[in-house]
Amino acid sequence: MDERKYAQVVVERPVRNGGVFTYAVPPALVETVVPGVRVAVPLGAQVVTGFVLDVSADCPPGIKTREIIRVLEGKPIPAALLTLAGWLSSRYLCTLLDALAAVSGPAPKGGRRRETEWLWPRGDAGEILAAIEELKAPAQARALSVLAAQPGMTRQALMREAGVSASVVAALIRKGLVISEKVSRRREPYEDVALDPTPPPLLTPEQEGAFSEIDKAIAAGRPEIFFLHGVTGSGKTEVYLRAVAAALSAGRQAIVLVPEIALAHQMVLQFKARFGNQVAVTHSALVPAERHDAWERVRAGEAGVVLGARSAVFAPTARLGLIVVDEEHEPAYKQEQSPRYHAREVALARARLEGAVAVLGSATPALESVARCLSGRYRQLRLSSRVDGRPMPAVRVVDLREEFRAGTVSLFSNFLVARVREKIRQREQVLLFLNRKGFAAFVLCQACGHVIRCPNCDIALSYHRPDTLFCHYCYYRARYRPRCPRCGDERLGWFGAGTQRVEEEARALFPEARIARMDAETTARRGSHAALLDAFKRGEIDILIGTQMIAKGLDVPGVTLVGVLNADTTLLLPDFRAAERTFQLLYQVAGRAGRGPLPGEVVIQSHCPEHYAVRYSARQDFFSFARRELALRQRFGYPPYAALVRVVFSGETEEKVVREATAFGAAAREIVGGEEVLGPAPCPFGKLKGFYRWHIILKGKSGRAVRDACREVLTSFLCRRGSGVRLSVDVDPVSI
Ligand code: ADP
Ligand code: ZN
Repeated sequence: MDERKYAQVVVERPVRNGGVFTYAVPPALVETVVPGVRVAVPLGAQVVTGFVLDVSADCPPGIKTREIIRVLEGKPIPAALLTLAGWLSSRYLCTLLDALAAVSGPAPKGGRRRETEWLWPRGDAGEILAAIEELKAPAQARALSVLAAQPGMTRQALMREAGVSASVVAALIRKGLVISEKVSRRREPYEDVALDPTPPPLLTPEQEGAFSEIDKAIAAGRPEIFFLHGVTGSGKTEVYLRAVAAALSAGRQAIVLVPEIALAHQMVLQFKARFGNQVAVTHSALVPAERHDAWERVRAGEAGVVLGARSAVFAPTARLGLIVVDEEHEPAYKQEQSPRYHAREVALARARLEGAVAVLGSATPALESVARCLSGRYRQLRLSSRVDGRPMPAVRVVDLREEFRAGTVSLFSNFLVARVREKIRQREQVLLFLNRKGFAAFVLCQACGHVIRCPNCDIALSYHRPDTLFCHYCYYRARYRPRCPRCGDERLGWFGAGTQRVEEEARALFPEARIARMDAETTARRGSHAALLDAFKRGEIDILIGTQMIAKGLDVPGVTLVGVLNADTTLLLPDFRAAERTFQLLYQVAGRAGRGPLPGEVVIQSHCPEHYAVRYSARQDFFSFARRELALRQRFGYPPYAALVRVVFSGETEEKVVREATAFGAAAREIVGGEEVLGPAPCPFGKLKGFYRWHIILKGKSGRAVRDACREVLTSFLCRRGSGVRLSVDVDPVSI
């Protein structure tokens, strides 16, 4: 009798038929070749690695199979995650290989466990800039500007982000422009958080009502989906904490997702204080070996709770009972490289596959979620008031057009100045929000109208104090000179204020106040975000100025005034979600005020105060906003009433990009028939990092129909090779 076993293996090499081949399992490996392990196999004349999908006694007739060479280090991917990978690849039209790589977690190799190397640029901003300008080799200059934008990177990260080889980085270190710092062991920032012995607070009646429903589902092992819609300050976190405790006492594990772990500092502390070492926090400061250790603790069941950003949705929990997705409306849940998944959707798919309860929470639900609540797919739980009956903040909108007419040149209206002064006098705290970093968004020559642009991107360079021009997309940097590069005139104007300018004006207006700024620039060093936040919470800062970093999750009871310097920055984006994003941001940032014993107030400055996103956020009225926005989406056929798949073509030669996009569009129109095909058209940012970009959008009533249609077009189209044009598929894009 033939006892031989055969394995289906996805090889790690892009091949036509999806790359799945059958291999024979040699007798010595029968024990170790199981679904989910990584193996080395022969392919043509090469040896490649791959994942085992399935093992059986069936051999496809008439095919001469070759043998698996060996099994690689590492635990197999659990069966549930293998199934999830299959779902990912069909839901997001990505290769099975990309999906498996996403679910397989961090590899055991990569960096020695106890000693990590961090790279820093030497000198201050001016010195670094001078060095960049003097470097002859473009690759070295690029690497140094990437590092200057994100100081404190590992060597691998720098090579990857700048697209340079190891020798380029080595040369920068040799020249003394980059400092290499070896840290024997990075301090795990949440290691020392002590378990809080005080019992958790008594739930408010609304929290109790919401929690008891979730608790019942967990106890019964009933995989329901709950939507916790709670206003800012209503205590959603406490409900998550209780739900996690319920899952743990039912002998199950829990995954808690947050949009960005760096911004979830306060939440991490709360979870650590409640559950101690049962919590595995996966954050970006971990090197691969440490991340691997965290994963192993989860796999072994030592960690019952996983807290992390979107990729934590793939944590290898053996007994998953609960998945929480906090701030489910956040665009950060979307992964912007293949597989381009949305962590909320993956969380729901995973909960369904493993019989777990899902809890999605937000004060400003995504409109997709509103539609699902209305259709009954989610069970809605409401927290309609703040803890302890604290009032929602009072909001006043200031019309910036009137300020302009009255001759105000400052970023601060007279009203806002007066309110800030009053708060400082009363020793209360103030948050000032502007969703743009740097000093000015663009520099324009007032004589000839020339705008200084990035040579690699279709984007104006922003101006940063004291003398830098900076591209936020490709990190290109140049020294600012007060002279127009086109006509030579010296009357250059700075437009579109950023947080640096807010800080400068605030220091002049409120000289007695202690002022700090929190944005990507001031928090580039690891841990500085948490340090700033702690200082603010201890009352050592009177005015905190920041970008969207301060809009989210911040819970500082001393804040009684929030000022929004310009509500319109996101309103003008060329995206059908511009109004939704603006509403969410304004509502969330307003929600930072009055979370303590003293009531809060909010001042929103806007050039279009009559816009419904501004008006409804000022009234903290989610439902009116949602009704209005849903009606518009329905009228124009946008999500949640339609599904979109976006196909982006990019390449260094624009004609080739257009040719490919046009051919794809023609193929799509032939195949799709009834479905809508929009484009080809240039992307809103038509050139990024030196690549021209065009896109086509497929639109349809049902997501499945659009995906099936797109898959068919892709199959007929993929035979076009060697065009020098890259194609990427984005199912349910979160930004256009
Ligand atoms: P949300 O996430 O809904 O905006 P939080 O979870 O941050 O609100 O809670 C707001 C504040 O109320 C926090 O300071 C939290 O500690 C406090 N809080 C939450 N629940 C209770 C409760 N049951 N009793 C007392 N304070 C609570
Ligand atoms: Zn650029």
